[in-house]
Amino acid sequence: MRVNCPNCMNKAIITSRENQSSGIADLYCSCTNSKECGATFVTTIAFKHYLNPPRKNTASIAASLIKNLPKAEQLELLSNA
Ligand SMILES: [Zn+2]
Repeated sequence: MRVNCPNCMNKAIITSRENQSSGIADLYCSCTNSKECGATFVTTIAFKHYLNPPRKNTASIAASLIKNLPKAEQLELLSNA
């Protein structure tokens, strides 16, 4: 992950991370342009949404859907796979 200094836009390094709650964290950063800037700052990163659900979720959703089908339909699905 890359963080840029909000003052000079140069690359900054993340010196530490403080998790706030699930999916939200504060990143403590230090500007690498030490000659002209040298700012230190805190930036926040947050989880927004999935583009694809995690594989495990997809598999468990499929498994629970299949379990609710009558046995004959379950077998038919498996034979088509
Ligand atoms: Zn800077």
